[in-house]
Amino acid sequence: MSYQPEKELALKIVRQAAKLCQRVQQTQGRQAVQKADTSPVTVADFGAQAILCQGLMESFPNDPVIGEEDATLLQKPGLEGVRQQIIEQVQQSIPTATPDNVIDWINWGNGNVAPRYWTLDPIDGTKGFIRGDQYAVALALVEAGEVKLGVLACPAFPREDGNKGVIFLAIRGQGAVEIPLEGGTSQKIQVDPSAHFEQLYRIESVESVHSDRQVQTAIDQRLGLTYAAKQMDSLAKYGAIARGDAHLYTRVPLPQFEGKKENIWDHAAGVIMVEEAGGKVTDLEGKPLDFSVGAKLSNNHGVLATNGSIHSQVLAAIKQEK
Ligand code: AMP
Ligand code: MG
Repeated sequence: MSYQPEKELALKIVRQAAKLCQRVQQTQGRQAVQKADTSPVTVADFGAQAILCQGLMESFPNDPVIGEEDATLLQKPGLEGVRQQIIEQVQQSIPTATPDNVIDWINWGNGNVAPRYWTLDPIDGTKGFIRGDQYAVALALVEAGEVKLGVLACPAFPREDGNKGVIFLAIRGQGAVEIPLEGGTSQKIQVDPSAHFEQLYRIESVESVHSDRQVQTAIDQRLGLTYAAKQMDSLAKYGAIARGDAHLYTRVPLPQFEGKKENIWDHAAGVIMVEEAGGKVTDLEGKPLDFSVGAKLSNNHGVLATNGSIHSQVLAAIKQEK
């Protein structure tokens, strides 16, 4: 399948959502609200989810959508102002949107897995977004438990021309490309297949609790890595591996989060990016990530993404450290 209609729609709405995020960042800076799990959420997270869901609902009304955000929080007393800002931001992108539309669009992301569904994270790396670092608008199409199309808009990602803002796009069987955020020529990307560990870069989250750094240090030593890990928020890490800027990325659950599984929207679009650029992604036991079971990767333990050529060696090192 060529996935041409899906690709066109995905690129269009991810760009629109990224534009909303940039606008919110310029006008509102660091304002955030706390979610029930104490993680921050902003006007841009909700606004971007509304835009993404509106497009999907209109073009592919039969496809369920599983998104990170939910509008329930916005009913809380005291958040009327935030709700109003979200509505105004969405109206700048879609002038005909009513307040009810905006809430309905956000909640369109409350779907369940099906033989074919979309998953999205309107802002992955909200903490990076608030800090002014990396973040990604992430959208993926899943069929029969396998990611078929992934798009990542990374408005702060550095480009070779000195500007910032990259879209990564991958379609199963068609490779991966990067495109300037504002549009332009798409360029094929590929992993750096080097297997000389002393010259390779590991990439990790900026947030230290998202992966076990103690176990990681032991794995790094076993592999003979010499460079300090690069740090980056969000799914942009998968883009960095796909374009050869880094070579491996792990998520090793900390003991206190052992039973907590990864969210599908935190990985789906990145997984296909790395795979279509020639790399490999599995869990820490070498099993493929299973996107058929629900909003979490319940059948998997942690995540390992590599340039492919080092994958089995890294898996062996992980096994020895567990
Ligand atoms: P990153 O930018 O790589 O730090 O990843 C951000 C994502 O990590 C967020 O979207 C959260 O869903 C997810 N997250 C939050 N807490 C944890 C945790 N304890 N372990 C793994 N991932 C987490
Ligand atoms: Mg996320």
